[in-house]
Amino acid sequence: MKRLGVIGGMSWESTLVYYRLLNRGVAQRLGGLASAELVLHSVDFAEVAAAQAAGQWHELGDALTRAAQGLRAAGAQGLVIATNTMHKLASRVEAGSGLPLLHIADATADAARVRGLRRIALLGTRYTMEDRSILVDRWQSRHGLQALVPGDEDRIELHRIIYDELCRGVVSDASRQRIVAIIERLAAQGADAVALSCTEITLIIDDRCSPLPVLDSTALHAAAAVDWMLA
Ligand code: GLU
Repeated sequence: MKRLGVIGGMSWESTLVYYRLLNRGVAQRLGGLASAELVLHSVDFAEVAAAQAAGQWHELGDALTRAAQGLRAAGAQGLVIATNTMHKLASRVEAGSGLPLLHIADATADAARVRGLRRIALLGTRYTMEDRSILVDRWQSRHGLQALVPGDEDRIELHRIIYDELCRGVVSDASRQRIVAIIERLAAQGADAVALSCTEITLIIDDRCSPLPVLDSTALHAAAAVDWMLA
């Protein structure tokens, strides 16, 4: 098994989900007491969120690159960044660490292609929905997928739910209903699936409540990492 490096804590609520899925995935494939060989660098998300809001992406790139270099020094052979938003810095972290990076956009897009889904509603932070360099351009250029993003008010509301609720472990029926309504509006615009392209949205939305088929970036990214570890 190859040793995986995980940059997490963004937020720790979703890193917990990754940790469970990585270990469960290895156990299911290898059986018995097998579990994931990994090293985790978990950051202080208060500092990260403040730097995001201040537009300090260069400093965040430096911090994530240092984290990745530390993971490499601890024996990691490959890397996942356990958040969609921070994939804004993915190419820099990959180059700066010298570790191969398993990109969350590819994990999500590969699943869409296998299932014949092409017009994908994108739910995430405002950064991810508004900055095409994070996911949208890569989906389009490498995978031929079209992204549909929510309107202005819906983007603001989703971003608020992510940072004020989900990243703090708050999961409410009221917010679930609001997100389902956002998905319904994107379905009416012709989306044929919804990508949960924020790693916390899996805490509140799944196939049972979603009006569209779900592409869960957290689960798909973790599954891609398990495949890589065991390849
Ligand atoms: N985990 C979230 C994501 O997947 C948002 C938190 C962050 O800004 O990293 O985008």
